[in-house]
Amino acid sequence: MSEAQSFETLIIGGGLAGLTCGLRLAEQGVKVAILEKGDTDRYLCNSRICGGAFHVSYRDVFEPPANLLNAINTQTRGFAKTELAETMANHVATAVNFLKSKGIRYIKVGTAPHRQTTLAPPIATKGRDYWHGRGGDVMLRTLHAELKKAGATLLLGTRALNLRMAGNQCVGVEAEQNGQRVNLDARNVVISDGGFQANHELLKEFVTREPAKIRQRNAQTAMGDGLKMARAIGAQLTDMKRFYGHPLIQDALTNDDLWPFPVMDDLCVAGVLVNPAGQRFVDEGLGGVFLANHIAGMDDPLSATVIYDHPIWEGPGKAFITPANPLIVTNGGTVHKANTIAELAQKAGLPAAALEATVAHYNAAVDAGTTAQLSPTRTSIHNGGSHKAWPIRSAPFYAARLCAGITYTMGGIAIDTHSRVLDTNNNPITGLYAAGCATGGLEGGDAVGYVGGLGKSSTTGFRAAEHIAANRAR
Ligand SMILES: Cc1cc2nc3c(=O)[nH]c(=O)nc-3n(C[C@H](O)[C@H](O)[C@H](O)COP(=O)(O)OP(=O)(O)OC[C@H]3O[C@@H](n4cnc5c(N)ncnc54)[C@H](O)[C@@H]3O)c2cc1C
Repeated sequence: MSEAQSFETLIIGGGLAGLTCGLRLAEQGVKVAILEKGDTDRYLCNSRICGGAFHVSYRDVFEPPANLLNAINTQTRGFAKTELAETMANHVATAVNFLKSKGIRYIKVGTAPHRQTTLAPPIATKGRDYWHGRGGDVMLRTLHAELKKAGATLLLGTRALNLRMAGNQCVGVEAEQNGQRVNLDARNVVISDGGFQANHELLKEFVTREPAKIRQRNAQTAMGDGLKMARAIGAQLTDMKRFYGHPLIQDALTNDDLWPFPVMDDLCVAGVLVNPAGQRFVDEGLGGVFLANHIAGMDDPLSATVIYDHPIWEGPGKAFITPANPLIVTNGGTVHKANTIAELAQKAGLPAAALEATVAHYNAAVDAGTTAQLSPTRTSIHNGGSHKAWPIRSAPFYAARLCAGITYTMGGIAIDTHSRVLDTNNNPITGLYAAGCATGGLEGGDAVGYVGGLGKSSTTGFRAAEHIAANRAR
């Protein structure tokens, strides 16, 4: 092991959370190093391949904080920790404006509130290279250039392995660099390694019995290293079960043209989901992120099929910017099509009589406006939900097998409003911070409330930097 190198602050991970934190510190003169395990300039991470929409629970980040807080509480049904929700609502605009001041450009895409602050140029709507030279890729390149100007050190090919502790205080990191173990000293360490979605062992511990049957809808760089090192020194983990993701067509497990887009959300929330017995098993109206989590939690996460008809295929099927219609078909997904429900069932390997009964019963409830009384219940715009329940009545009818696609884990290391890591007694661990998707407490719960990865990463990264800088002289 070589002699320890010294910095004021070490940041683990060069995604949006780590780079925001690093840049804010460096511009205030803090000697900062970012450890990034990726070893090329264009290393992969979720921030690089993302869709680019900065939002807070689907509201624009520049709306008044009271609106944002309300949106978080509505989405998470009050599950988000109050102090974290308030921090997000009150500070996201500052973080997003800070990035803007460093050259990050945003544009409005369409009219939906959650796309009014989208990274420019926007991602392409098809193709495996949809992110190249766009959105997150440009954002990271811009931030790297700014970090260099501000005098920060970016250590590529450097994987953090352990936190170094002196008593209860974090004093650095043990890392691997070019096959060698190195010790790095620092007064503060920030964990921003992006979550644990790509670690099957951790997914099995917290999220699903069958991680191999979940599509990794992400850069596959977040292995939960930060979570494991924090847990090893007594940090508190929080709300570990849920993830942000989408239902995908099942062929996405083997066909790379079918992930991360198109997502199947709009078809799923308009139609019905059935199990191998041809019966509904979930409230489709609770939205795609909820459905992806539900599917991942099933005994067999590959046993769900979505059923819909022609008006759904031509309506909601075309709604999204990367629409399921026609992309699931043109990209090679298996979609069964038939003129009757019985014929559809036969093609999709489902029991015909059961599927006919399920669809007839469901249609009757849609007609009568009584979907809330279905079992399982069906939330819709008629009973407090945000999606319309469509009847499934007009041929041709369609069926597609689904799988859950995991984008990032919502739970993680517990933090306070300054992004300080908390121990199991809720006390901050001296010298240790966490930011971005490595953290938990803001998203998830029974409703699987989604707040937004880019907003969370920039805000928590920025907050960590503000606290570290403010406490520098003490
Ligand atoms: C397809 C897709 C679309 C998305 N669209 C949106 C969107 O439109 N809006 C939105 O809000 N969110 C979106 N997200 C989510 C968003 O991209 C993430 O939530 C956010 O970018 C995470 O930032 P981060 O810095 O926490 O993690 P990351 O960007 O994943 O960065 C973590 C970094 O840590 C590094 N690392 C990991 N372990 C170590 C270690 N031991 N040592 C050193 N380095 C390590 C990794 O290599 C990686 O570079 C999307 C994600 C995907 C995949």
